[in-house]
Amino acid sequence: MIRPRLSVVIPVFNEAETIPELDRRLKALFLGLASLGGSWETVFVDDGSHDGSAALLEELARAEPRYKIIGFSRNFGHQIAITAGLDRADGDAVVVMDADLQDPPEVVQLMLDKVAEGFDVVYGVRKRRQAETVFKRATAAIFYRLIRAMTRVEIPADAGDFRLMTRPVVLALRALREQHRFVRGMVAWVGFRQTAVYYDREARFAGETKYPLRKMLRFAVDGITSFSVVPLRMATYLGLFAGSAAVLVGIWLFFVKVLNLGSVPGWMSIMVAVTFGFSAQLVMTGILGEYIGRIYEEIKRRPLYIANRETNLAPIERDVALSRRAGPDIDGH
Ligand code: UDP
Ligand code: MG
Repeated sequence: MIRPRLSVVIPVFNEAETIPELDRRLKALFLGLASLGGSWETVFVDDGSHDGSAALLEELARAEPRYKIIGFSRNFGHQIAITAGLDRADGDAVVVMDADLQDPPEVVQLMLDKVAEGFDVVYGVRKRRQAETVFKRATAAIFYRLIRAMTRVEIPADAGDFRLMTRPVVLALRALREQHRFVRGMVAWVGFRQTAVYYDREARFAGETKYPLRKMLRFAVDGITSFSVVPLRMATYLGLFAGSAAVLVGIWLFFVKVLNLGSVPGWMSIMVAVTFGFSAQLVMTGILGEYIGRIYEEIKRRPLYIANRETNLAPIERDVALSRRAGPDIDGH
């Protein structure tokens, strides 16, 4: 098979309202990119949609063989859907883009210009996020600052998963098969020459966000635990702090007693110390649990997703695409 020059990977979860417009904008983009000579593909990953998105995509793919579809057996989540797309995208350059047109397809041209300058990863940085709620912007700002403070990989602030990667980067990413995936961090981790292009994040074309607060929080915890063990170390700092405080209080009590400065009222201070210590211990146990749970899920070595439908895709090359890692079979061979 001849490799396309450009692949676009699009995770789709209940985007039926947007798909016709997405189709128009994509085709306009590909027509505009004359240098491609029509050598492109789009890999839609249907992440268990139940609003007719799958049927719409199938219909488009019947008329356009360069539209390819991977259909999941259920909803596996945005980051896993991106992973499946990257597993099967064959292009010399691969762009990951949301289905809701918040990532304007027209920016791809700017990204390709950067590749011509010799960059391997071009991520889109949001100049204005006018369309998003104050809450989303504020939590995103806190999250990116937090994760940058806690990790050594340079995860760009205000960049989502909208990015272009050249094939070597995509091949490198395919080797990372961890269960809890924070794709933008993983792209930062693999390295290569990276740069940014700036764009205005538009409002969602139609429909609601598929990221309610619950998913956002899980995503944030995945991001931090995937790239940092600083939270585990907090137990040490907290312990040292509580220990020093106890010593100081002890010294103070000793002098009160020896110099006979009166009696120390006890109940309040004991209650405060006990509840502080107790909650600190529970919080630390919870953090330990987050990491241990991740070890448990990793050790099961389950596949990252189950795809039960494919359209217009070449048969899987068994080497990398779906095998989780190279290693002995279960019976040791
Ligand atoms: N998405 C997905 N699976 C999910 C949630 C979202 O494939 O479980 C897709 C969704 O269809 C969209 C992209 O991921 O193409 C980003 O989702 P959304 O726009 O809802 O997130 P937001 O932009 O609000 O952060
Ligand atoms: Mg969106």
